[in-house]
Amino acid sequence: MIKVTDLEKSFGRNTVLKGISTEIKEGEVVAIIGPSGSGKSAFLRCMNLLETPTKGEIWYRQTEVTDHKVDIMSIRQNIGMVFQYFHLFPHKTVLENLTYAPMTVKGMTKEEAEKIGLNLLSKVGLAEKAAEYPNRLSGGQKQRVAIARALAMSPEVMLFDEPTSALDPEMVKEVLDVMKSLVQTGMTMAIVTHEMGFAREVADRVLFLDDGRLVEDSPPAEFFSSPKSNRAKEFLEKML
Ligand code: ADP
Ligand code: MG
Repeated sequence: MIKVTDLEKSFGRNTVLKGISTEIKEGEVVAIIGPSGSGKSAFLRCMNLLETPTKGEIWYRQTEVTDHKVDIMSIRQNIGMVFQYFHLFPHKTVLENLTYAPMTVKGMTKEEAEKIGLNLLSKVGLAEKAAEYPNRLSGGQKQRVAIARALAMSPEVMLFDEPTSALDPEMVKEVLDVMKSLVQTGMTMAIVTHEMGFAREVADRVLFLDDGRLVEDSPPAEFFSSPKSNRAKEFLEKML
C-alpha cells in the first residue's frame, strides 16, 4: 500500500533520513522503534507530506506522494495521523472535532458527519462526551477523540506518532486498547512507539531506525529475541 524507496530528508545541512527503503502492505501493522532523534517522526511525517522529502520516492497505491504535483489533500484524506500531543481543536466540541474535516474537505452534510462521528465516538467509548470541549477531557480521552477524528475521514492507513508518550501511565492502556481494536478491523497501521510489549503483541513487523537509517526490518519475535545489530541490542537493553 505504501512503498518507500531511498527516502532522504534534510533540514538545511542536517540529513535526518539517510536512504530509507521499505514497504507497508495492506492490512499490515508496522511498529517503528528507535532512539530519540533517529528520524521516526520525520519518516512518518514524510508519508503524509507534513514534511517534504528531500530525495527518494514514496508511493501510496498508484500515486506518487513525492511527485510535486500530487494532491496533498487527497493523500492526507487517505492517510490519517495521530500525534503525541493530540492536536485537537480547542474551541470545538468533541463531536465538532470529528465532523469538521468530513464536512469541509469531503463536503459531507452535518447530519451525515454527525452520524458517523457519534458512531466512532461510541467505538472509542466516548459517546457521552460528544458535547464536551477537549480541555474537559483526560489525556487518554483526548487521544481517543484524536483517533476517532482521524477515522472520521475513513482513511486507508493510520499513522501514529508516539500516541501514548504524553499520557499518564494509567491512561496508556485505554488508548492501546482502542488501537488494538483498530488492528482487529484490518486497518493498515504504522506506529511509532516506545511500548515494547504492545509492539511485540500487535506488530507484523518492527522497523528499527538509528541515526536516519533503517537498521532492522524484522518480525517482532525475531527483533525482540535476537536483534541483528548492536544498536538495536543496546536500545532494547535500555528499554526492557
Ligand atoms: P524522532 O522522532 O526519532 O525522535 P525526529 O524525526 O523528530 O526524531 O528528528 C530527527 C532529527 O531531525 C533530529 O535531529 C531533529 O532535531 C531533526 N528535526 C526534526 N524536525 C526538524 C525541523 N523542523 N527542523 C530542523 N530539524 C528537525
Ligand atoms: Mg518523534
